[in-house]
Amino acid sequence: MPELPEVETVVRDLRPLLVDRRFVAIRTSGQSLRAQWEKTWEAQLLGSLVRAIRRRGKWILIDLEPAGLLVLHLGMTGQLTVVSTATAVENHVHLTFDLDTGDQQLRFRDIRRFGSATYHQDEQEWITQNPERLGPEPFDMEARYFREKLAKTDRSLKAILLDQSVVAGVGNIYADESLYTAKLDPRRRGRDLQKTEADRLRKAIVTVLTRAIKYRGSTIRNYVGGSGLKGGYQDEFLVYGRTEKPCYRCKTPIECIRLAGRSTHFCPACQLPEARR
Ligand SMILES: [Zn+2]
Repeated sequence: MPELPEVETVVRDLRPLLVDRRFVAIRTSGQSLRAQWEKTWEAQLLGSLVRAIRRRGKWILIDLEPAGLLVLHLGMTGQLTVVSTATAVENHVHLTFDLDTGDQQLRFRDIRRFGSATYHQDEQEWITQNPERLGPEPFDMEARYFREKLAKTDRSLKAILLDQSVVAGVGNIYADESLYTAKLDPRRRGRDLQKTEADRLRKAIVTVLTRAIKYRGSTIRNYVGGSGLKGGYQDEFLVYGRTEKPCYRCKTPIECIRLAGRSTHFCPACQLPEARR
C-alpha cells in the first residue's frame, strides 16, 4: 500500500504536469471505487483550473480555481499519472481527466479498487466528511506532542505508528523501518517508553521517510510515481521483508511476527524489548 513517500512522489511528479491546467473532459469506468463517484461533481470540475497539488498523510489534494477540492487516495493499488492521450489505456483505469494541453490526461488506475476520488467544496468539508482523523505530518510533529501521545497509551509501538490520528502518513513498511532505525522493539507499549527513546523514534521516522522520498518511495507490487516511474527504496529496506536474513547491525536473523494485524519485521537482538543501553 502506498505510504507517505510514495504519495509525496506522486504529488511532486504531478505538480509540473497539472498546475495551471484545466480539466476539459471527464470519463469514468462505471465501476465504483471505495467511495462512489457522483456525476454531479463533473459540472463543478469541468473548466476548473488546477491551482495546486499537495499531500496530507496518504491523501492527495488538488486545489481548484475558482473553488473546490479534488481528493484522491491510492488505496492498495492506485496509480495516478499524467500521460499522453496516445498512450494505450490499460485495464482498471476508472477515472480519466482530459487536460487543456489537448494531448495529455490524468488517469486514475486501481486494480483492487480500495482507492477513492471525491470532490469537496473546500478543505473543511473534506475534513468533516473524512472518517479518518489525521494527526500532524511527521516532519512537523513536535517532540512534546509525540511523547505525550506515547505516554497515554498501552498500545504497541507498531500500532501507534500505524494510527493516522497520531501521526499521518506512516504505514506498515515505514513503521518497521523506523522502529529498526530507532532500535526499539515494535511490541513495546507506548507508555513504557523513556523520553529519550520517544525522541529517538520521532527522529527515526523523519530520517527514514526523508530517505525514502529521495528514492521515490518503494515499489512492492505496482506502485508508480505520477510520471509512471517505479520507486527505488524497496532495494534499501533495512528490515522490512528481510525475514530470516541477517540483521545488518548484529547478524541475528530478522524475525517476522503478526502485530497490530500486520506483518512486522524486527531484529530480536538489537531492537531490545527494554532499554538496556
Ligand atoms: Zn540486530
